[in-house]
Amino acid sequence: MLSEKEREQIREAAKREIRRISEQIRKLESKISPVSPDCSLGRLTRLEAMGEKAVNEELLARDRLRLLRLDNTLKRLDEASFGLCIDCEEPIPLPRLLIRPESLRCVACASDRG
Ligand SMILES: [Zn+2]
Repeated sequence: MLSEKEREQIREAAKREIRRISEQIRKLESKISPVSPDCSLGRLTRLEAMGEKAVNEELLARDRLRLLRLDNTLKRLDEASFGLCIDCEEPIPLPRLLIRPESLRCVACASDRG
């Protein structure tokens, strides 16, 4: 069972991550502008630009998902079951929760799932 103080630490860690990821999302969004078909870029340059855009879109999707999970973390933080692994129901160690506040599983169960 997590103490009030530990929950507070996790809340701060989650908020910090939310700020960092929101900033990252803003940067990625500004990078992703449509690659115009008729611009003066050469064909290869255009292909490169499209590849880069795909990579950025993937990063963006991942960041948005993480942001969603962190938001949920803040909502679940005061529940008694918060911090318990959803598979083995053992407490997830505090250091893990501070690094990845959105963790739903302990390290052992998370790696079991591959
Ligand atoms: Zn577990």
